[in-house]
Amino acid sequence: MKLTVVGCSGSFPGPESAASCYLLEHDGYAMLLDLGNGAIGPLANYINIDDINAVLLSHLHIDHCADIGPLYVSRRYHPAGMRDRIPVLGPEGIEARIINLYGCGDSPEPLHSVIDFVEFSATPLEFGPFSVEAQLVVHPVSAYALRVTAGGRTLVYSGDTAPCDELVQISRGADLALFEASYLEKNDNPPLLHLTGADAAKAATQAGVQRLVLTHLVPWNDLDEVRADAAEFFDGDLIMARPGLTLTV
Ligand SMILES: [Zn+2]
Ligand SMILES: [Zn+2]
Repeated sequence: MKLTVVGCSGSFPGPESAASCYLLEHDGYAMLLDLGNGAIGPLANYINIDDINAVLLSHLHIDHCADIGPLYVSRRYHPAGMRDRIPVLGPEGIEARIINLYGCGDSPEPLHSVIDFVEFSATPLEFGPFSVEAQLVVHPVSAYALRVTAGGRTLVYSGDTAPCDELVQISRGADLALFEASYLEKNDNPPLLHLTGADAAKAATQAGVQRLVLTHLVPWNDLDEVRADAAEFFDGDLIMARPGLTLTV
């Protein structure tokens, strides 16, 4: 499975990155994890956006879902004709949230023409070669960590979460952890929102994951500090996300 970091800026786009978006490809199938604000532009550097087969939204904060609107426009009004419908999955209320965000008034029909909204369910979901498990984590809104397996390899994406056992459980035995690291240890951080680099490292270590990519990097933080916070609690391969980073999982 090939992972490409499209956008890794936490909470809002920064001067060097769009908000959260990760492209996963395997066996000719392409899936996005999140499509935050500004991400659809750089996404076109890595794939023809018509070739996206499915989109999974970890949660419905704007830095994770805003560019579903532009994705809709690109499919609905394509000069070569309307593109096929694609599944867009997310927490309960996804359809109403995206319709409201895009601003279709009382008529959601145009979005339905190219998007099939699906709420996460308890059972593993199958998309082409990908199998996905969604695990509720701790955040002010309904938010999920996503465990994605393809070709016998597994990646776990934390989405946004405070430290929690659920993240460790869903990450057990994964080949790569793509965990958020929004906060710095030195600050007095609000509770029940996000991880520090140290929190991400501890969760990856507890889950037995040997490869950790830190992401959701907030523009006002010094990345060296984020990395140093994590390095203290992680002995494996520690990587900082950046736009265009490509890894084979
Ligand atoms: Zn976020
Ligand atoms: Zn969030």
